[in-house]
Amino acid sequence: MRLQSRTIHAGVDKDTAYNSIMTPIYQTSTFRFADIGVTKGYDYTRTSNPTRKALEENIASLEGGTGAVATATGMSATTVVLHLFHSRDHIICTHDCYGGTDRILRLYQELFGLQITYVNLQDPGNLRKALRPHTKAVWIETPSNPLLNILDIRALSVTAHEHGALSIVDNTFMSPVNQRPFELGADIVVHSTTKYLNGHSDVVGGAVVAREPAIAERLQYLCNALGQGASPFDCWLVLRGIKTLVPRMKLHEENARKVAHFLSGHPAVKRVYYPGLPGHPNHEVAQRQQYGFGGMVSFDLNGNLADVHRVLRSVRLFALAESLGGVESLIDHPVSMTHASMDSALRQEAGIGESLIRLSVGIEDIDDILEDMGNALSAVTHGANG
Ligand SMILES: *Cc1c(COP(=O)(O)O)cnc(C)c1O
Repeated sequence: MRLQSRTIHAGVDKDTAYNSIMTPIYQTSTFRFADIGVTKGYDYTRTSNPTRKALEENIASLEGGTGAVATATGMSATTVVLHLFHSRDHIICTHDCYGGTDRILRLYQELFGLQITYVNLQDPGNLRKALRPHTKAVWIETPSNPLLNILDIRALSVTAHEHGALSIVDNTFMSPVNQRPFELGADIVVHSTTKYLNGHSDVVGGAVVAREPAIAERLQYLCNALGQGASPFDCWLVLRGIKTLVPRMKLHEENARKVAHFLSGHPAVKRVYYPGLPGHPNHEVAQRQQYGFGGMVSFDLNGNLADVHRVLRSVRLFALAESLGGVESLIDHPVSMTHASMDSALRQEAGIGESLIRLSVGIEDIDDILEDMGNALSAVTHGANG
């Protein structure tokens, strides 16, 4: 089956009792043994649950992996992956990774002696320079948050493999509709299903997918040992969300492109960050490795902090909120919200200034989205003139 059909059908048909079309929510902690040592494949929900299994099969199929674990949050997915490593193992991580990823990497460095180096991986040659004898993995996140820089997954995976290291990709921003890292040589894919996969801002969840069965098995073992599995109800909601993933991603992108073009021509905007724009510094790589450019757009306002506040307070349809990937449009001010905990020198170095605004463009009517953004921006040009 093709991707769109698999979003709807993969793993879903689980009801042997009544042939329900939808996977039932097996809201149970435990399962009765038919006889001593005899089960129907499940004994305890921390270890495994049919609803969770359905979601795991579905996401594994979409990414083209051999197995997956569905976890309670995106961070629990990352936690499970980090337990593949031992103290003194070295991990090279993209310098502008998700803040929570940075936090747990530093925590594991402090607690367990994991060695971490942050590197600007936009030049794949920098990975080679950072390799050490004990380098066991490269942590890739592309496009990055909030500047939407693109990393070359294939080039980085080749270098990692030459060194016997794993290539791990956080694919949250693209979803398997727009990017499938296994096709580009990655070994492990991480998701915050909280974002596009669920898509309705009503669940926090995560997933890890493996290309090799041996890694998939180890991840299952770790997920059970660490107790990171997602609840049956959350898994059911994410399964439900994924059924519309393809049409949602198409609409997100269609709207995001129009927003990016609108902002590019607006006098209140200094610079637009969207990999779909030909002027984006990594546009070529994005075009080569992605099936689409996604629904995230960032921009620098042509103004000061007071102007930024004016925009954030003037929007009506866009909600001032963190997170992304839901059907509704959200607006975020990275410096005071999502990236507030980031070291300010590092933030400056990465190019995240106080005039930066990040949009998660929803799937509302594009005319309402543009009207709202236009009104908010005119508040700035007005304020500046008056
Ligand atoms: C949100 C996010 C995470 C963390 O996921 P949670 O579900 O919030 O724990 C990890 N990586 C990326 C890129 C994210 O956007």
